[in-house]
Amino acid sequence: MEKSAFIQCGGYGRQGLKAALRSLVEGLGGSSRFFSRGDSVLIKPNMLSASAPDECITTHPEVVRAVVLMALEAGARPFIADSPGLDRFSDVARRTGMEAVARELNIPCVELDDPTPLPPAEGAVFKKVEVSRLALSADRIINIPKLKTHAQMMLTLGVKNLFGTVVSQRKAQWHYNVGLRRESFADLHLDIARGLAPCLTVLDGITGMEGRGPSNGRPRAFGLLAASTDPLDLDFRVCSLLGAPLADFPLYQAALARGLAHEGMDWSAHGLPEGFAIDPVELPELDALHLLPPFLDGLGKRFLTSRPVQDREKCVGCGKCVRICPAGAMRMEDDGRIRIDYGRCIRCYCCQEVCPADAIQFSKGLLLRTLELLRR
Ligand code: SF4
Ligand code: SF4
Repeated sequence: MEKSAFIQCGGYGRQGLKAALRSLVEGLGGSSRFFSRGDSVLIKPNMLSASAPDECITTHPEVVRAVVLMALEAGARPFIADSPGLDRFSDVARRTGMEAVARELNIPCVELDDPTPLPPAEGAVFKKVEVSRLALSADRIINIPKLKTHAQMMLTLGVKNLFGTVVSQRKAQWHYNVGLRRESFADLHLDIARGLAPCLTVLDGITGMEGRGPSNGRPRAFGLLAASTDPLDLDFRVCSLLGAPLADFPLYQAALARGLAHEGMDWSAHGLPEGFAIDPVELPELDALHLLPPFLDGLGKRFLTSRPVQDREKCVGCGKCVRICPAGAMRMEDDGRIRIDYGRCIRCYCCQEVCPADAIQFSKGLLLRTLELLRR
């Protein structure tokens, strides 16, 4: 049996969504494989920030609703939970529509809190990771990511969504701990995904985001719903479907290094109607550090990465970028100007991710610009 299943799905209408989800789950062995009577089930959508569903930053509440209904029909005890990086959970739950789903279906919608050590999976690189106790105590986890591009990690799909179980501001601390190399951050995501081992991942790719995701890109209709018993398998197949180069995907590089993927494997997405295709997604190209060995990172940071810069015209002075910056590299002056210490900056692009006004732009390093010109 395939690990991942795909279906074309043109919108968030309830009947169509229910049928599409049922078809995907049947293809993976049926709902009894994922839900048992009485089981507590963590439903983990992407609740990155307090944004409305049509902004395409968070998982659409109708997808979450369809999954919750399936769990309830099986007699399970689902609850919706996540840990936003900066915004208040109550604001996020309300704006994203999760609170309304939970109220309608009479289930809890709660913040992931209480950091608790994650037992390391076999081959884990990071042995001392803490995630929310609620994620560890649930009998099952259903992971419901949103299909988006990501300024630092190229794409955010099934594996990356589970990083949300790291509680609140501790996410920023991890950015700082892993530093400049995107493959190290991907290693951390792999450790969390393998440690939590969600039984099912349902990807909301009906609409998603391209360009400078995960928050300030462009919404785009992809018309795709997918489900998988293995988020890594799902992510590589979706990457291929989007026309994005696997070799540039940090998660793929991390998986290759650990023997969890092999060059030349077939990552096509089976089950889609003949002729279904997605025009190549627009990716953020912000660094080419992998071209240099790690001991030259200092040089690479200067010439092969993009520096965040404030766009003063757009900036609304909320200070979110300063608060999230894991390196303490940002400071707001009295006149609203944001000073960035590029020596300290680790190019995590958290500032761009949380900016509500798209006021963090990128200035590309000299060699990065040259490389892009050569590629054209
Ligand atoms: S300035 Fe931005 S990119 Fe640099 S470390 Fe801070 S949040 Fe990350
Ligand atoms: S997050 Fe954006 S809008 Fe807010 S202070 Fe920073 S640059 Fe300005």
